[in-house]
Amino acid sequence: MAETAAAPVMRWWGWGDPAHPPLLPAHALGFLRETVGLAARPRPPVALGQVRLATVATSEALLAALRQIVGAEHVHDGHAQRVLHAAGKGYPDLVRLRAGEPEGAPDAVVYPGGHDQLRALLELCARSSLAVVPFGGGTSVVGGVAPLRGQHSGVIALDTSRMAGVLELDGQSATVTVQAGIRAPALERHLAARGLTLGHFPQSFEYVSLGGCAATRSAGQASTGYGAIDKLVLGLRMAAPASEIELQALPASAAGPGLRQLLVGSEGTLGVISELALRVRSAPTERIYEGVFFEDFAAGTQALRTLAREHALPEVARLSDEAETRMSLALAGSGGVKGRLGRAYLHLRGYRGGCLAILGFEGAGEELACRRKRALALVRDGGGLAVGRSPGQAWLHGRFAAPYMRDELLTLGVMVETLETATQWSRLPRLHRSVGEAIHGALRACGTPGLVMCHVSHVYETGASLYFTLIAPQREGDEIGQWRTVKQAAGDAIVAGGGTITHHHAVGRDHAPWMPAEVSAGGVAALRALKAELDPTGIMNPGKLLPELRSG
Ligand SMILES: Cc1cc2nc3c(=O)[nH]c(=O)nc-3n(C[C@H](O)[C@H](O)[C@H](O)COP(=O)(O)OP(=O)(O)OC[C@H]3O[C@@H](n4cnc5c(N)ncnc54)[C@H](O)[C@@H]3O)c2cc1C
Repeated sequence: MAETAAAPVMRWWGWGDPAHPPLLPAHALGFLRETVGLAARPRPPVALGQVRLATVATSEALLAALRQIVGAEHVHDGHAQRVLHAAGKGYPDLVRLRAGEPEGAPDAVVYPGGHDQLRALLELCARSSLAVVPFGGGTSVVGGVAPLRGQHSGVIALDTSRMAGVLELDGQSATVTVQAGIRAPALERHLAARGLTLGHFPQSFEYVSLGGCAATRSAGQASTGYGAIDKLVLGLRMAAPASEIELQALPASAAGPGLRQLLVGSEGTLGVISELALRVRSAPTERIYEGVFFEDFAAGTQALRTLAREHALPEVARLSDEAETRMSLALAGSGGVKGRLGRAYLHLRGYRGGCLAILGFEGAGEELACRRKRALALVRDGGGLAVGRSPGQAWLHGRFAAPYMRDELLTLGVMVETLETATQWSRLPRLHRSVGEAIHGALRACGTPGLVMCHVSHVYETGASLYFTLIAPQREGDEIGQWRTVKQAAGDAIVAGGGTITHHHAVGRDHAPWMPAEVSAGGVAALRALKAELDPTGIMNPGKLLPELRSG
């Protein structure tokens, strides 16, 4: 095995590097105070020691058996480790953690060192009725790592961060084989040193594991060009309680239904992905990111559709609607990342509405120049006004910053939630309208009207994704009730409008109720049958992906 890298440290109550400085500039606070309203007093998270957890339910004998398999130093049942694995990073997770009241916590956190230990662990857990929640980077925003025990007597978080090695790089075939716990930055560093890239950059890039990305069918910000993870996974190895599956990294195969695609997106409900073979590419030597301004969202989406039809899409293609463009402009300030964005927006003097798109071209030399020239010509024909590189560079520079700001806004009593979908071009305008209206309606019903904005983030020949962000004052004391109201309204509107319940955040617990609407009752039954084969006692990630079975 070539190398492993230590997992980066994450704030237990929020996002990212604990040492990260605040990002929100003073003028942005002024804007938010006027438009959304801020809490009279800051609401910081409680101290770690104040987080309340239930006592460990797992017997000492079972803990000893777990230690026997992975080594005593790799089984933890202390308070801090349990808190770190008590939730993912969705809005309700953070609300509960900051209040010191997570819904639950694993009885123990177990760190296997590889595939064989995984198999032994899963067999033990199946025999002992111990639920297993696979835990990669823990960045799920859909309740995917919630430590639910279902019908079982206890629950462990199975943290994959020790399984973080690069196993093989086949330069001739442009594939890399890794252990599934490797974090995305560690893999990119390994590849960059060899002139290669995976090209998978979700906004959560700094912390995600590749196994977690595969298990959730993740899409990166440049997936329009590089393909989402389902296009990058060529082979994999999975350990399940009753079996194991190994699929080679073949370039193509007609050997029956696509098992790879059945396991990619299985969200830890069938087994644990232990290894992945991934397609890689030459790293770009040039990155040109630039802004294009459109009169309105309709004109912008039409231009993106043309780019897709003409096979002229750049690696990154994002289009903010009017509300999001307005917000970005208002938040642009005079220092740091925001300052660059502010200066970028000076290009848009005379702005009276309209929508900003970011187009990001990655490649090298002549090939890149030709692609870019053709794409920009098509965009201009579609009414787009190229406004230079500064908006694109500002976006590129700040593309992983938003989650840090979410933490600051929560301290100010502001709810920040994002949700996403995708649909065909023919339905996109109506879906954009109806989901936006549903969120606004739900916020008004809660007595907390707010801002709702959206962007297209991934573009396909037949349609595109829509990514909504909402910002509203928190309903103090009923933050979770407020969130549920909004989530229900948005999910219902998405399904009614012909969108998918998730384009890339996955199903987890939060989207499971809409699965029958998405894949039909027969589809849900087929997934249950597969689960019964691989995980007959139902220990794998209970309560996720599939809707709860109602008895009686
Ligand atoms: C701020 C923020 C921004 C985000 N931006 C994006 C984005 O741009 N694109 C995107 O796609 N997603 C995004 N997400 C969602 C999240 O980062 C992705 O779902 C990511 O793929 C999860 O990876 P992870 O390693 O953190 O997995 P985890 O959160 O640890 O786990 C996610 C799910 O996969 C299962 N799982 C984890 N590892 C394995 C394994 N080895 N085998 C089997 N099952 C496993 C877990 O049980 C869980 O159900 C974002 C999240 C946050 C908080």
